[in-house]
Amino acid sequence: MPRVNISVKLDGVLETDVKRWRAICSIGLAFAIPCESLYGEWFSDSQPIMGTNIHVEFWHEDPAAARDALAAVIDEMHRIDELMSPFRESSELSAINRGAGAAPVAVSAELLALLERSAEVSRMTDGAFDITYASAGRFYDYRKGVRPDEAQLTAAVQAIDYRYVQIDREAGTVRFAHPEVYVDLGGIAKGHAVDRGIELLRARGIDQAMIAAGGDSRIIGDRRGQPWTVGVQDPRKPGTMAVLLPLEDTAVSTSGDYERFFERDGVRYHHIIDPTTGDSAREVRSVTILGPEATLTDALSTSVFVLGVRAGLTLIDSLDGIDAIIIDGDGRLHYSRDLLQVEP
Ligand code: ADP
Ligand code: MG
Repeated sequence: MPRVNISVKLDGVLETDVKRWRAICSIGLAFAIPCESLYGEWFSDSQPIMGTNIHVEFWHEDPAAARDALAAVIDEMHRIDELMSPFRESSELSAINRGAGAAPVAVSAELLALLERSAEVSRMTDGAFDITYASAGRFYDYRKGVRPDEAQLTAAVQAIDYRYVQIDREAGTVRFAHPEVYVDLGGIAKGHAVDRGIELLRARGIDQAMIAAGGDSRIIGDRRGQPWTVGVQDPRKPGTMAVLLPLEDTAVSTSGDYERFFERDGVRYHHIIDPTTGDSAREVRSVTILGPEATLTDALSTSVFVLGVRAGLTLIDSLDGIDAIIIDGDGRLHYSRDLLQVEP
């Protein structure tokens, strides 16, 4: 079994070696090294899409094909944004939010599949992940420091329940079983976009790459014989890393309370909402999830943020191939069981 060391530097005190089991790494490494060509170079692009920074980077031997692949990934991100953005009137997501409270709305197979995936994660997390959080979530504006008043919030919370989203797979339609339901895929769409981008690169024969959409990343292969490094930000020290993760062939997502927030009377209002209250979840400061694909790590980072340390780690320890690093409300680190195999 391969071992990947995770160096932990929180407030400069703690330094730990952590075992990481990923059979896939050894397979990847065994084949990647002898196959590596001496020719080729790194290609990359960064663009603001989906309200975040999209970064694509890979090794390629043919500059023309590489530029083509970069453009294909960026186009794909724009396409998904146009399909799923809650801010675009023309998106399919907006069409659902306008119409599904009254009658079934026809949607693309891709959006339908992501709605089904969201429902699956909702069931898996006992409703901690719930795209109808937006029934209340839409009354917050973190940039302007706006939040719903008590009456507004009490009414809106009635319309939060993932079971209100009724999907008819045969008909290809979505219908809301409550008139005030509003959905938002902000907790899963970036992961989906990253996975789609990785599929496009793979189809072009690219096997050493990283795509990041804000806090959601996926890596294929290694970085010319070295692991890629993904940092977990210290939630209270912008620009400082609390954890450095050397990674190969994995997806990693971080959800934090420092991304979009405002403070009122000493209380932090941020963009991860507890579906039971319609208010921000406040037990932890950040959650990082490692797993095989970004759609799932994205949705689970949001979920575990809502669940908190105990319930979150219980869930992650029950899932094969998924790991978590949580930074709690006091800045302490918590690891899922498989990451806790500390070297003697
Ligand atoms: P980001 O990468 O945008 O910071 P996260 O993965 O941390 O995103 O998820 C936060 C986003 O998920 C919010 O902006 C919102 O769109 C959505 N969201 C918030 N609370 C929930 C929830 N309980 N269930 C599902 N989605 C949520
Ligand atoms: Mg997420």
